[in-house]
Amino acid sequence: MGAFRKTILMTMSFTLVLISCQTSPTGRRQLMIMPSDQMDAMGAQAFQEMKTQQTVERDAATNVYVKCVAQAITDAMDERRNWEVVVFRDNSANAFALPGGKIGVHTGLLKVALSPSQLAAVIGHEVGHVIAEHGNERVSQQFAAQGGLALVQGILSTREGKDYGLLMGALGLGTQFGVLMPFGRAQESEADKIGLELMARAGFDPRESVELWKNMARASGGSPPEFLSTHPSPDTRIRNLQDNMEPALNAFNSTTRRPTCRRSQ
Ligand SMILES: [Zn+2]
Repeated sequence: MGAFRKTILMTMSFTLVLISCQTSPTGRRQLMIMPSDQMDAMGAQAFQEMKTQQTVERDAATNVYVKCVAQAITDAMDERRNWEVVVFRDNSANAFALPGGKIGVHTGLLKVALSPSQLAAVIGHEVGHVIAEHGNERVSQQFAAQGGLALVQGILSTREGKDYGLLMGALGLGTQFGVLMPFGRAQESEADKIGLELMARAGFDPRESVELWKNMARASGGSPPEFLSTHPSPDTRIRNLQDNMEPALNAFNSTTRRPTCRRSQ
């Protein structure tokens, strides 16, 4: 066992004695066992793997566009950190964000998110999962439910290249890697709420989030896009967004920010 894993397992046992609870940005009680710098390291590692295993889109205009929208979102956050944004050439309508400040956007999403504001809605939602530390919460819940030392050991063993899927699953990237660990309902609606507020504060019209979900529903036709297979139905989504629309519109109307991100093509 490497020194790194040893340290983590020791940290884990100490943390278990303390059993740490914390409150999410929307006031929900959360069980948090993993040290957040460990989650950051896992996110960074997973992202690194993805960049080597998947095709990174190099088209300049597409990159400028996606990064413009993503940066407007991360600039609207309270916490200052540099987020790395990578566009992956992949036809699925998907995006994700990872602890450690990582954002991935699939080119397929640009066929469903038809405006900068719609893209901002998806990125805001994904970043919302990270801000509220849903990955940590999920690992902690699994740990509590299964006495999951094996789970944590499995996650840590990914450093030696095994159980890569488990790490990805814990981070919410399950469908790509065959381990499906979807976020729970409470986490999804929380990410919606945070995402809506973030996009509004960044100067994107929050009402466009509803349009995005209509597009998603339309695009899903027969087989659902990947994003939908791990997320609540568009109808649930739209209702949830409309419930939170008023404060979001206030935030949108009270900021002078109006990002000018130009869609490529
Ligand atoms: Zn989500």
